[in-house]
Amino acid sequence: MTGISTNLIHGGDKYARVHDVAPPINILTTFSYPLDSSKLVKASDAGDFNVDEIVYSRLSHPNGLMAEAAISTLTGGNVVLYASGLAAFLALITHVNPKRLAIGKAYHGVHGISKIWERNHGLEILDLYDSASIDKLQPGDLVHLETPLNPTGEHYDIQYYTDLAHSKGAVILIDSTFSPPPLQDPFVFGVDFVMHSATKYFGGHSDLLAGMLITKDTNVYQKLVEDRVYLGSNIANLESSLLLRSLKTFELRVLKQSENASKIVAFLDSNRDKFKVLIKIYHGSLQKEPFVTKQAINGYHSPVFSIDLKDEETAKLFPSKLKYFHHATSLGGVESLIEWRALSDEHAAPTLLRVSVGVENVDDLIADIEQALLAAEVETINGKLNLVGV
Ligand SMILES: *Cc1c(COP(=O)(O)O)cnc(C)c1O
Repeated sequence: MTGISTNLIHGGDKYARVHDVAPPINILTTFSYPLDSSKLVKASDAGDFNVDEIVYSRLSHPNGLMAEAAISTLTGGNVVLYASGLAAFLALITHVNPKRLAIGKAYHGVHGISKIWERNHGLEILDLYDSASIDKLQPGDLVHLETPLNPTGEHYDIQYYTDLAHSKGAVILIDSTFSPPPLQDPFVFGVDFVMHSATKYFGGHSDLLAGMLITKDTNVYQKLVEDRVYLGSNIANLESSLLLRSLKTFELRVLKQSENASKIVAFLDSNRDKFKVLIKIYHGSLQKEPFVTKQAINGYHSPVFSIDLKDEETAKLFPSKLKYFHHATSLGGVESLIEWRALSDEHAAPTLLRVSVGVENVDDLIADIEQALLAAEVETINGKLNLVGV
């Protein structure tokens, strides 16, 4: 079997329309019908919708098809690309059409869509962590599990929730955005659907918005593709070109980002005494439960982790002390980011900082965090003491 990078670089080749090293950026919305009139088939006679016949870009387009083909080699499933991660979730809930949705901690936008469904369709939202609530699940319902979880990068037990969902006849979706392949493969545990915000690791350069659903069931895949035509949520032309560019370095980036994150977390963990402002570290690499080893393939954890600093003032100040971490939301890019999470998540503790680790040299990143923790200490602990002295 060929390796991940080989597959990602060449997996879309069958859709190449010119003999170039990289496919041209294609922004066409409409494509000429075949010149050969014998190939023209009336829509009423055409049967199942076929994405391979490129007609209009809301249906399919060359670089979107190439990207889907390449990513399919990596995930072992049928990949459907969307205009964003949330467009992917909306497509999934539309397809499953559940009466009940069991959901725990998850991306705020996924909760936002669930609320719209509650309002419009009377969807009942169940608490995934409450067994009395979960007991209400029935066949045809949907379980949503995000793991590793935003913003901490901590793992939740996929097998446990999959068995629970299936024992009730419900289907389960894993939002695997925080640990893309080859860090995690939820299909190993028998899940029904995997979703990614491709805006994050698949894109990897903080410059494209996209999402995907993956299913092993080819009939379900065909329905998702047909629904996408009418939901109008296909990935944009330009984004798919950017995504193809990104796929070529995907494996290199993701493995390096994951390694960097675990090294930084290990450094912080073993130097807790040195940093007076550092109160808590959250990351999959610090979890000891047995299921974690099964999920984190070869010990690779999410490249995202979080820390609690001693108070709100210190947490708010900290990003400004760093040289190599942009203070920005989002994650997954080659550039390291840090975010005072209270800015974008109303449920986040005001002491929490989320870190998305990039591909920079890890010693530089560690040195940067070290000096910033000490600088924050000088300003918020010593600074105050000095003031008291005056
Ligand atoms: C960003 C994100 C989403 C939403 O993706 P968009 O591409 O921004 O629509 C969903 N789930 C998780 C875990 C995310 O991080």
